[in-house]
Amino acid sequence: MCQKNMTSTRVLSVPSAKTPFEQTTIQRRELRPHDILIDIKFSGICHSDIHSAFDEWGGGIFPMVPGHEIAGVVAAVGTEVTKFAVGDRVGVGCFVDSCGECEYCLSGEEQFCTKGVISTYNSLDYDGNPTYGGYSQKIVVTERFVVRIPDGLGMDVASPLLCAGITTYSPLKHWNAGPGKKVAIVGMGGLGHVAIQFAHAMGAEVTVLSRSMNKKSEALSFGADDYFATSDPATFTELAGRFDLILNTVSANLNVDAYLSMLRVDGTLVNVGAPPEPDNYQVFSLIMGRRSIAGSLVGGIRETQEMLDFAAQQGIAPKIEVIRADQVDEAYERVLRSDVRYRFVIDISTL
Ligand SMILES: [Zn+2]
Ligand SMILES: [Zn+2]
Repeated sequence: MCQKNMTSTRVLSVPSAKTPFEQTTIQRRELRPHDILIDIKFSGICHSDIHSAFDEWGGGIFPMVPGHEIAGVVAAVGTEVTKFAVGDRVGVGCFVDSCGECEYCLSGEEQFCTKGVISTYNSLDYDGNPTYGGYSQKIVVTERFVVRIPDGLGMDVASPLLCAGITTYSPLKHWNAGPGKKVAIVGMGGLGHVAIQFAHAMGAEVTVLSRSMNKKSEALSFGADDYFATSDPATFTELAGRFDLILNTVSANLNVDAYLSMLRVDGTLVNVGAPPEPDNYQVFSLIMGRRSIAGSLVGGIRETQEMLDFAAQQGIAPKIEVIRADQVDEAYERVLRSDVRYRFVIDISTL
């Protein structure tokens, strides 16, 4: 393999599970005809970065460079790139390649690629090389997996939209959140606080279900119409049969029957957070209201672009805390303590 045109880049990497981050250098591949070299400006911290860096899901590839909420500027393009030019503001989310030929790739739902979509980090690409993510000064990605950041959207707030944004936008769209629909958002963290804004902008009536009343005023400022504490049992009786859609952004095991009881006939409980243990519920909770339990995985590239355009047009932005590269270990600890409102974003110029 010819290595002369590879690009070295500084990264934050963990040498093995649960070790502190180190600043090291890796090589990004030589540009292929459809590749884009991106100078990364901001990289968001997603809870799944922590699961991966701690190897909680197993199979971790180390050293690991996490990060799949990437915002930056095009620094170079391959000979056959048509979608982008040097200087364009661009983003990369959870995936960096797919087969491009299966029915799901062809319909713009690359996340379900039958050959297996390639994750932005902690994955092996189709040549068997590990992928390294966005805690990095530069990344090389094929143009099919790069989206445009609209002018109206700051690069720092755009980065969390590439995972947290599309993960919530896609199910809200798929299950028709809109005028006349009553939507509940469970959990008000990195995902939930963006979900509220999207559901509200789509025209739905939005209720937030959070453990305590602590975040009520902020939820209303994000566009929520109503707010209830799930620690109060009266919430579930008061809201019985209320919602068309409940979007669960929490990754703890819930009393699923209690949540299903808040759905109308034909209502759906959609999960985007995965609990550690299998869920238990009574099938009667589904039968009695023709209700459904569903899941949703991020979103396709075309929909990710649509989501960014919608966010720019509607003035939707995650609430972020920008940190330096040397603060990532501390940020992980704070995420685990739920001590962040609502998303950490690394300023890559500090790397
Ligand atoms: Zn993520
Ligand atoms: Zn495919």
